[in-house]
Amino acid sequence: MRIETVAIHAGAHVDPGTGAVTPAIHPSTTFERDPDGSYTRGFLYSRNNNPNREALEECLAALEGGAAAAAFASASAATSAVLLALEPGDHVVAPMDAYHGTSRLLRETFARWKLDSTLVDMTDLAAVRAAMRASTRLVWVETPSNPLWKITDIAAVGELARRAGARYVCDNTTATPVLQSPLRLGADLVVHATTKYLGGHGDVLGGAVVSKVRDALFERIRVVQASAGAVPSPFDCWLVRRGIRTLPYRVRGHSENALRVATFLHGHRKVEAVHYPGLPTHAAHDVARRQMTAFGGMMSVQVRGDRARAMDVAAKLRVFTRATSFGGTESLVEHRASIEGAGTRTPDNLLRLSIGLEHPDDLIEDLEQALS
Ligand SMILES: *Cc1c(COP(=O)(O)O)cnc(C)c1O
Repeated sequence: MRIETVAIHAGAHVDPGTGAVTPAIHPSTTFERDPDGSYTRGFLYSRNNNPNREALEECLAALEGGAAAAAFASASAATSAVLLALEPGDHVVAPMDAYHGTSRLLRETFARWKLDSTLVDMTDLAAVRAAMRASTRLVWVETPSNPLWKITDIAAVGELARRAGARYVCDNTTATPVLQSPLRLGADLVVHATTKYLGGHGDVLGGAVVSKVRDALFERIRVVQASAGAVPSPFDCWLVRRGIRTLPYRVRGHSENALRVATFLHGHRKVEAVHYPGLPTHAAHDVARRQMTAFGGMMSVQVRGDRARAMDVAAKLRVFTRATSFGGTESLVEHRASIEGAGTRTPDNLLRLSIGLEHPDDLIEDLEQALS
């Protein structure tokens, strides 16, 4: 079935007891045993599993074309579960421009537990090959990547991971399963911040790991999910599942609006550079066209001038809200160097834009008045 149909129906069942079409929220933490002590209805205690999480996990697996999924309270918890499934002494190759929480976890938390990591430019295949060691067990990619929206060739890096005998993970948060299918391009696992486009309304934090097959690695992730317990609440699962129903249409809208905005900003006299994979001038536009069906809602713009000028443009915007995060219906603007702090390589004149679902002409008029 096509993704629009999957997004609405996967894991969604009419309630046999009441006929309710929209699923109920099940806050119960515990579930009744059968007279013989077994749990034939499938649920025992809600940290292990509950009806809302099961429905969400079924849907996430179907969206990515995977065999199974595990939902978490945040993407950071999902990322931690993947890393906790490795062994001390294992080595991870990850992107230099990974989500800053991911590289911080590797650097500050997992290094202390003897998980080694090397951060590389994933667009440089020779550098990725050179980073591989005999102990490399995991290769992590994220594409498009924040905040320059660089494109990693998922299949090409996957081939290097396969040859090194390493497992291959793609953080698919920015593209979503609507635009890109990492499991079909060689990834073993997909990670999501459902906080962003999947939830889609800026009202729920969540994460997930989707696995291509039910294997020992995924079983270890399942064990971490239940035993470490960073699980989403039934209401969180319900909200993400509800958001997903409109995901394909929202992502199409975000992508159409973003292409309009990027085209407007490109060549604007007050703009130094626009970073958006949908522009033919983007360094890896051809790779993006090959592995994505459209280019998503995220872009960055470097204004002509310094940090103060960028802050001034952000301050003048009226439709865009100055805030972090992305993937909601409303457009957001963020001065990335400020949030990344000391040591950031992000240019001082760069503003990250999360293009929402407002009318694109209103977004363009807002940018025009703020730039002028
Ligand atoms: C936001 C984000 C995360 C972290 O998500 P949380 O739910 O806040 O932990 C991870 N990866 C990417 C690409 C993100 O954008």
